[in-house]
Amino acid sequence: MDNLPIFVNLRQRNCLIVGGGEVATRKAALLLEAAACVTVVSPTLAGSLRELVMEGKITHIEESFHPRQLEQIRLVIAATNDRETNEAVYHAAEARGILVNVVDNLELCGFIMPAIIDRSPVQIAVSTGGASPVLARLIRAKLEATIPNGYGKLAALVEKFREQVIARFSNVNARRNFWEQILGGDIAELSFAGRHEEAEAQLAAAISAGGEDQVGEVYLIGGGPGDPDLLTFRALRLMQQADVIVHDRLISKAVLDLTRRDAHRIYVGKERDNHSVPQEEINQLLVDLAKQGKRVCRLKGGAPFIFGRGGEEIETLAANGVNFQVVPGVTAALGSSAYAGIPLTHRDHSQAVIFVTGHLKDGSMNLNWGALAQPHQTIVFYMGLRGLEIICQQLISHGLPKETPIALIQQATTPKQRVFTGTLCTISEVINSEKIKPPTLIIVGTVVNLHQQLNWFRSQAMIDHGEV
Ligand code: SAH
Repeated sequence: MDNLPIFVNLRQRNCLIVGGGEVATRKAALLLEAAACVTVVSPTLAGSLRELVMEGKITHIEESFHPRQLEQIRLVIAATNDRETNEAVYHAAEARGILVNVVDNLELCGFIMPAIIDRSPVQIAVSTGGASPVLARLIRAKLEATIPNGYGKLAALVEKFREQVIARFSNVNARRNFWEQILGGDIAELSFAGRHEEAEAQLAAAISAGGEDQVGEVYLIGGGPGDPDLLTFRALRLMQQADVIVHDRLISKAVLDLTRRDAHRIYVGKERDNHSVPQEEINQLLVDLAKQGKRVCRLKGGAPFIFGRGGEEIETLAANGVNFQVVPGVTAALGSSAYAGIPLTHRDHSQAVIFVTGHLKDGSMNLNWGALAQPHQTIVFYMGLRGLEIICQQLISHGLPKETPIALIQQATTPKQRVFTGTLCTISEVINSEKIKPPTLIIVGTVVNLHQQLNWFRSQAMIDHGEV
């Protein structure tokens, strides 16, 4: 171990920053967050530092560095761009046994600054021993993504009940088991979801019950349109902690691969006209699993509340007193639009967008065609591939010009994405000549014309970056 990681208490301790530029400003802000008494030594000051002085938050010594300024100082940071000054600070501080850091100069450091993930009171410091601050920042970004903001609140909750738990469980192992259950379970989830009062009430109840009953919960999660990068942080976290994954056909393998490896997976997929598990059975399955104390991830394509029957599933859960939470996902319209370069609204083309189901019932589609066939509006049809001809005919007969552009986006956001464009009167030819597979989304409106243009920009950017 080259350096010992420690967390230093600087509250009300005197700290010195030598230098008055941008870097010094950042360091001053950091020290102020740790409630240190900060003095800045520099003949000149950047605007933001001057503001801190005027607000009385830091003290300014308007001089060049002199070792006498180190008197009573606990920690010093040299942030000047003058090598000699930085060296002088380092040697003077070392001689006095003061912790010293010279920014971006590992050799002149008595301590080094880590990349920080702050979920106070939880703090994580990442260091590569100065080998690569950029790598430390990348690691930090990864940790930021997996450690929810709510961890700080969770730690505060634990702190609040610590004594009670010690009093309730005299045995250390029992205490550890108890906290493991709580921190990996529903109470932690309530805290992450900002439901602090409920979390406290349940924790208090769990302490008096002795931590025996594990209550199940259902996470209704939007898995997005296919590309796993489009999952939310919350979706990923819950996917990795659920004991059971109940998923359907729209969930891509890449997304499913991100669920907990040892979780039990149940496929309840639906094909058009071939509902492999009836909706009522899925609803009941979720209730039964949760009542067995399982944490159930109900993973749905896109967003659960957009043509996802998410509403029906939570109704049954609520009626049966099962805890649940809903995690939004990127719906197919947003994913397809972004990945195909077709904005859904555009100042010059469309001031409204409407999402509608093109699902055929008894061979017809009972939609308000008059409201759909409006100018300056984009229409997105989900589940419309089979009814495409009816869609085009109806839109034309309700007033949309037959030249209105239309796009079909197949398997959007996946490596198999294909985009077909045409007009309301030509698109059926495309259907006949190409083998178009579900899931496919349909976008109607003049915004579709932007596809060529924006894709051209994209390929141009790729050429500029040497990617093609
Ligand atoms: N809840 C989902 C929609 C389910 S309805 C969501 O919010 O996206 C199923 C329809 O969604 C499909 O018939 C298709 O029209 C569309 N769809 C879902 N994923 C898609 C994808 N990756 N590419 C294109 N269309 C998709």
